[in-house]
Parts: sequence; C-alpha cells; structure tokens
Amino acid sequence: MGIVYGPVPSRRLGMSLGIDPVPRLVCTFDCVYCQLGKKRFVVHGPEEVTEQFPTPDKIAAAVEEALKTRAHVDYITFSGSGEPTLNPGLGEAVKMIRGFTDIPIALITNSSLLTLAEVFDAAAAFDLVLPSLDAGDQDTFLRINRPVPGFEIEEIAGAIARLARRVPIWLEVMLVRSEEHGSNATDAAIAAIIEKIRMIRPHEVNLNIPVRPPEEPVDPVPAGRLEEISTRMERALPGVPVVVVPKRAPSRSKLLREEEISSEILRVLAVRPCTTVDLADSLGIDPAEVGKYLARLGEAGRIERRMQGGRLYYVAKEA
Ligand code: SF4
Repeated sequence: MGIVYGPVPSRRLGMSLGIDPVPRLVCTFDCVYCQLGKKRFVVHGPEEVTEQFPTPDKIAAAVEEALKTRAHVDYITFSGSGEPTLNPGLGEAVKMIRGFTDIPIALITNSSLLTLAEVFDAAAAFDLVLPSLDAGDQDTFLRINRPVPGFEIEEIAGAIARLARRVPIWLEVMLVRSEEHGSNATDAAIAAIIEKIRMIRPHEVNLNIPVRPPEEPVDPVPAGRLEEISTRMERALPGVPVVVVPKRAPSRSKLLREEEISSEILRVLAVRPCTTVDLADSLGIDPAEVGKYLARLGEAGRIERRMQGGRLYYVAKEA
C-alpha cells in the first residue's frame, strides 16, 4: 500500500488527502474501539518498530505527485493505519510539503507521544491538530485505550494543553460502551473528561462514536445520551464549541479515473472497514457501481465481508 490515499471526504476535514506515515497497524494504544484489526502491533515508541518508516522526502514526493493528479483537496491529513507520531520524520515531512503547497496540513493523533519534546515540536508545525482524549481519569484511560504500560493521562492532557497554546486543536472524544470494558460515557467519566477539557481549552471539541465495526464487541453511545453529554459539556465549558460529528461525510463528486477506483477502494479498506455506501461517498460514485468493483475484488480474494450491527462491511485482506 502507498503512503497517500484519497482524497476522501472526511467527517471533519472536507476532502482530505490522507497520509499514512507508519508501517501498518503500529500504535501505542490498543483501543477497544479500534477498527484496524487484531494484528495491531503495540509499542512504546519508534525504537520498537522493526519495519522502516517512510522517510520525509518519500512522504513529500508522494504528496507532491498526488496533488498533480487528484481533484480538490481541503486538507493534507496525517493519520492512517497506526499512530502517525511514531514516525520520527514527521516535522521534517511537514516542512518539505510546505515547500510546494499552501494546502493546510492536519494531524490526527492519539496524543500519547505529545509528552516527548521532539513529537511536540513536530505536532506544533501542523496547521491543525486533532488529538484524541477519551478519558479524564487513569482508570477509564486504561480500560478504553489500553495503552502500553507507562502512559499517564495527566501527562498526556498536560501536553495537549501546551500544544493548544501553539496551534489550533480540535479535541476528539470517542464515546463507547462495552460489556467487557465498561464505558467512558458515564456521568463520572464525563465529569473527569470535562475537567481535562477545561484545562486544555481546545478550539473545538468533537464528540464522536464508532461508526464502523471494531474487532471487539463495542457499542456506540446512543444518540440521546450523546446529546445529553454535548449539552452538559456546552454548559460546563462556555466558549468552547462542542460538535457532535455527523455519522457520514458529505458526498462530493470527484474525478477519479476508472483504473484508479479499485486501488482507491483497497486503500480505503486497508485503513478502515466500509459499507458500499461509505465507499460510494468516499469515491463520489454511485453505490451500484461500487458494488461492481467490490464483486470483482471479492472474486480476486482481495477483500472480505463482515457483518456488524446488521450491516455488511468490507475489509481488505492482508497482502
Ligand atoms: S489510537 Fe487509533 S490506531 Fe491506535 S489503537 Fe486506538 S483507534 Fe487504533
């Protein structure tokens, strides 16, 4: 799989050209809601990663090439199939990309490594950072995000707060319930999250629920509870916009060449499971047409089906 995918319509960032700067499935967390499959490789830092990270010049060259041929792009977004800040060349890559485009560059991160000076400085070089904070207390953090040992939510929240003084922050809170792991949407857990947000003072809070199937049985928080939490946060955090992230990105047409469609479908499915409609939105083409490509990819053994919550999702098979 390549370094660049999309542009795909993002629920938060418009048309987003995705950058995947880490070897597949490498992360510092093992979140109960993760959509990336059970083969995740959980590490403390880049020194534990045996695969090669894409170098800054490789990343910049892939972005430059993609911008020559792709349709409209609102953001160049570092995220992908693992924790992007594990890549030690992130700041350098941003600097190089700025040499050939003015398109804003965003970072989606689980926040864990922002406590490290070099990662903090790299994150501060972005135009926008979307750090996750799913818990305000250590117990909920350990149950929901399941970090490798050694991470402390107090330190991570402190680093996000410092970053919010340097660069716009949209704080992402994923709300889930699970029989096995409990919930981060109880009154007590939300009170703890609100205290952290008060200290961080982000430019915006995005309340999110999983919309695609994780490997483990995890339920999204129901819409009514989400609304209650949103209202409670707005009252407790005057001046901080609290946005409930819509379930689907707005559909926007794109000029994808026919021969690119199969590889785009595989690229998107390698990062996250999708329904036919998700893919149709993502690619800007008719769901019936997506169905034809999915049938061909299924016959070729490149993708497989998975049922979740009564809906049929497609996932890419490991190469
Ligand atoms: S931080 Fe993201 S990639 Fe890492 S385990 Fe959690 S959901 Fe998966």
